[in-house]
Amino acid sequence: MTGGELKVPRRGLMFILSSPSGAGKTTLASRLLATEKDLVLSVSATTRKARPGEVDGKDYTFLSEEEFFRMRDSGGFLEWAYVFGHYYGTPRASVFDKLAKGVDVLFDIDWQGAQQLDAVAGGDVVKVFILPPSRTELERRLRERKQDPEEVIRARMAKADAEISHWAEYDYVIVNYDLDQSEHMLRSILLAERLRRRRQIGLADIVKDMMRDA
Ligand code: 5GP
Repeated sequence: MTGGELKVPRRGLMFILSSPSGAGKTTLASRLLATEKDLVLSVSATTRKARPGEVDGKDYTFLSEEEFFRMRDSGGFLEWAYVFGHYYGTPRASVFDKLAKGVDVLFDIDWQGAQQLDAVAGGDVVKVFILPPSRTELERRLRERKQDPEEVIRARMAKADAEISHWAEYDYVIVNYDLDQSEHMLRSILLAERLRRRRQIGLADIVKDMMRDA
C-alpha cells in the first residue's frame, strides 16, 4: 500500500532527502516519485551546467548567476545555498498550496537547505538522511556513474565529510546497502508520517460523526 491510497483528507508534508552525492538519494527519489501518488518533486534552480541526460525544468531549472540572484533577491526562494561552487535554491512557488491540497513535496537538497526549510516550516518537514555503507563504497559509486571529472570526484569526497557531519540533525537515517530495501524503508517512513494524527485533518469530521449520539 502506498500513502496515495489514504482517503482521510490530510495536510501534505515536506519530505527532505539529504546525503553525500553518490549515496543513492537521486535514484531513491526517482523511484518514489514514479509510483507514489500525491508526491511531487520540488525542482530546484541551480547555476551549475546540466549533466548529460538532465532536462531543464525537470531535473533542475538551470539559471545564469544573474538570473539566480534576481530570483533570490526578489524573495523567490524558500531557501538557497552555495554547494560545490554553484548556487542552488528551492523555488517558493506553490509549495504551500500543494501541502494544503494534501500533496507531499520531495526535496533533494543538502543540509543547509534542510536547516532553512526546518526554520520556515518545521511542522511540515520530515528529514531523512541517506548514508552510504562505507567511504570506499561511496567513492566506488561516484566513479561508476561516470558523471564527473576526477577533480570533481575528489571535491565531492571531501564535501561528503561536511554533509555527513550533519547526519544527527535528521529525523530518520537510512544506510543504503541495497536500493530495494532502502526504497521500502523510505516508503515506510513516508506512510507513517502521512498517518500522523496532526496531518490527518479530516479525522475531526469522522470522529464527530461517530460520536454524534454520545
Ligand atoms: P548535484 O549538483 O549533484 O545535483 O547536487 C549537489 C548538491 O546540492 C546535492 O547535495 C543536492 O542535494 C544539493 N541541492 C540540490 N538542489 C538544492 C537546493 O535547492 N537547495 C539546497 N540547499 N541544496 C540543493
